[in-house]
Amino acid sequence: VNLADYPYLRTLNDAQREAVLTTDGPVLVLAGAGTGKTAALTARLAHLLYTRKAWPSEILSVTFTNKAAREMRERVGRLVGDAVEGMPWLGTFHAIGAKMLRRHAELVGLQSNFSILDTDDQLRLLKQLIVTADIDEKRFPARALGGLIDEWKNKGLVPADIDAGESERYANGRGGELYQLYQDRLRSVNACDFGDLLLHVLTILKTNREVLEQYQQRFRYIMVDEYQDTNSVQYLWLRLLAQARKNIACVGDDDQSIYSWRGAQVENILRFERDFPGAKVIRLEQNYRSTPHILGAASGVIAHNGGRLGKTLWTELDVGEKVQVLGVWDGPEEARRVGEEIEAARRAGRSYDDIAILVRAQHQTREFEDRFIAIGLPYRIVGGFRFYERAEIRDALAYLRVVNQPSDDLAFERIVNVPKRGLGDKALAKIHQLARAEGLPLTLAAARILDTDELTPQARRSLGNLIGDIARWRDMARDLPHAELARQMLDESGYTAMYQNEKSAESAGRLENLSELVRAMEDYESLGAFLEHVSLVMDRDGDRREPEVTIMTIHAAKGLEFDTVFLAGWEEGLFPSQRAIDEGGTRSLEEERRLAYVAITRARRKAVILHAANRRIYGQWTSSLPSRFVGELPAEHIESESSMTGGESLWRANWSEHADPFANVGRGTGRGPGWQRAASTQAGQIARPARVVESRAPSVGLGQKGRDDLSVGGRV
Ligand code: ATP
Ligand code: MG
Repeated sequence: VNLADYPYLRTLNDAQREAVLTTDGPVLVLAGAGTGKTAALTARLAHLLYTRKAWPSEILSVTFTNKAAREMRERVGRLVGDAVEGMPWLGTFHAIGAKMLRRHAELVGLQSNFSILDTDDQLRLLKQLIVTADIDEKRFPARALGGLIDEWKNKGLVPADIDAGESERYANGRGGELYQLYQDRLRSVNACDFGDLLLHVLTILKTNREVLEQYQQRFRYIMVDEYQDTNSVQYLWLRLLAQARKNIACVGDDDQSIYSWRGAQVENILRFERDFPGAKVIRLEQNYRSTPHILGAASGVIAHNGGRLGKTLWTELDVGEKVQVLGVWDGPEEARRVGEEIEAARRAGRSYDDIAILVRAQHQTREFEDRFIAIGLPYRIVGGFRFYERAEIRDALAYLRVVNQPSDDLAFERIVNVPKRGLGDKALAKIHQLARAEGLPLTLAAARILDTDELTPQARRSLGNLIGDIARWRDMARDLPHAELARQMLDESGYTAMYQNEKSAESAGRLENLSELVRAMEDYESLGAFLEHVSLVMDRDGDRREPEVTIMTIHAAKGLEFDTVFLAGWEEGLFPSQRAIDEGGTRSLEEERRLAYVAITRARRKAVILHAANRRIYGQWTSSLPSRFVGELPAEHIESESSMTGGESLWRANWSEHADPFANVGRGTGRGPGWQRAASTQAGQIARPARVVESRAPSVGLGQKGRDDLSVGGRV
């Protein structure tokens, strides 16, 4: 090949070039992080267009996120110019599925203008069906059914495929029936959910020969990035489409498979070689992203997983700094340290845009957000809402506002029927009428309306209870510490129970966020001061696009890279998550370890891993142990530092002798860390764990699910 003829090949190594130039036949690129898989795939796309092997509309390329699709489109555009006009089939599985489904909707009983339901709509619909089917929604929540249906859809199963055993997983064997009812109902309202975008298309391809052949002809070339995280329905879909021409190129890394909780199957890598015999397997070994120390640290951790396909990684980059492992006293200190390091990096000429903080669980962002707002450090949260903007946090805040401020009508409206109390729009309209007529705030109008016969008896009873509760909470607010008040209020109102009953991973995350909220309140003198802080935080928006530090979950960071990466909260119970630990066995733990590998390999030049000795969990100080993954970092690649004078060793030596004199510190007294920090400066004898790990049982109803989360916002 004459490189001068192919500008996009010049920047690639031999193995990458092979991946680009092997255009025909099945190709599997199996390689570690930062080895230029995505770069090779992008060049491949450019090559196909540049050499006119295919028109833009004849290439199907799947990316994991919409953002990745945009980037690929831009990069290819730069490489080959106008040829990219169009590229209608470059996008995520969902985006491509939606496009195909619109064209053939009638084949599955939809019209082409079908709407796509979001999770809330989906749940509302399921609830209706559950009620109609006379199933006790409290025992068999809609969310559980929704999760099950998603799982079936990810596996490519339609209602007819659900056997008795599967069906048994919901409402004593009624799962399959409800799945069928749900699909019927969707059809009757001309709608589908996310899972259908792929499942319906699969059905269409399986049952309509001409349609299948038409697409098999159209897609001369198929390419897939992040292949290790495809699920079954996606795999079946790809296999059908590629079956005729077999020009399919997939790139992935088994060590970065982190979405098994969403049905992803790393086994698809092995399946590929079986289903496409003679596939050319290309391994890339040179890493262009990270320094040797960063790479060494990441490789050292992932080496503890079993059953890996195994690969070699090397880099020519300068050795650079060792990975920094920082032990800090507690969460606030972690946030403060990271803030300081970021400011130092900026003074040294680095841009905020080059810096990311990666967390395991979404609730971890809160402490950083509060700190960064306090010091005016610009940040953005990617792949999720900012902490105080999340639905459950806003609901909880609304409860607090109602207590704090009787005339806060917006807050009252938000909570009046959350959780459901049978106070629907009709009842609310009546209250509004009275409020307007008498010039009263809603809470007062609500109290007044109880004396009338405007409401149905049931609504009157519920409203009476709520008004009674609010009055009582206001009384309690006088003597009870405000965090304790919040805790009780969330319990007594049934708000916490609402999520506890759902038993989904998502609701576990929400409960975790709620305890984090209560925890945050303890840092403020009064309820008023806390709410004031929150309104300032919320108001921070406005003009954007100055450089910002990125805060995101590790899940959302897949495929990305940053100059400097802070990895926060590497503690047992947080990362690996308590849920993974509790599950026992190696499966979940190995997925957590892959997450650790993904996390470290996002860094180009500098990686800082942090672990705190104390976390406040469920309002109580808890000693935490450094993550086992910290222990797995090879010593030669790390530099450890502990901010605890006298050393971590002392702390480590002592932590197991858990005298527990400080069990209730931080509850009710406002600031826990104050005395602890004072103690910590007196070197030596500081090594008192405030509390030992087994005190994890919730003291209140919050978060019975342990400390796991669901990390990425919606689907991609
Ligand atoms: P991940 O597994 O994290 O998705 P990846 O294998 O897709 O990583 P890329 O993101 O494609 O890796 O590349 C990592 C970095 O290396 C990028 O900054 C890319 O520009 C650079 N890079 C890729 N190939 C080369 C090359 N041949 N020469 C120099 N730099 C390269
Ligand atoms: Mg990539």
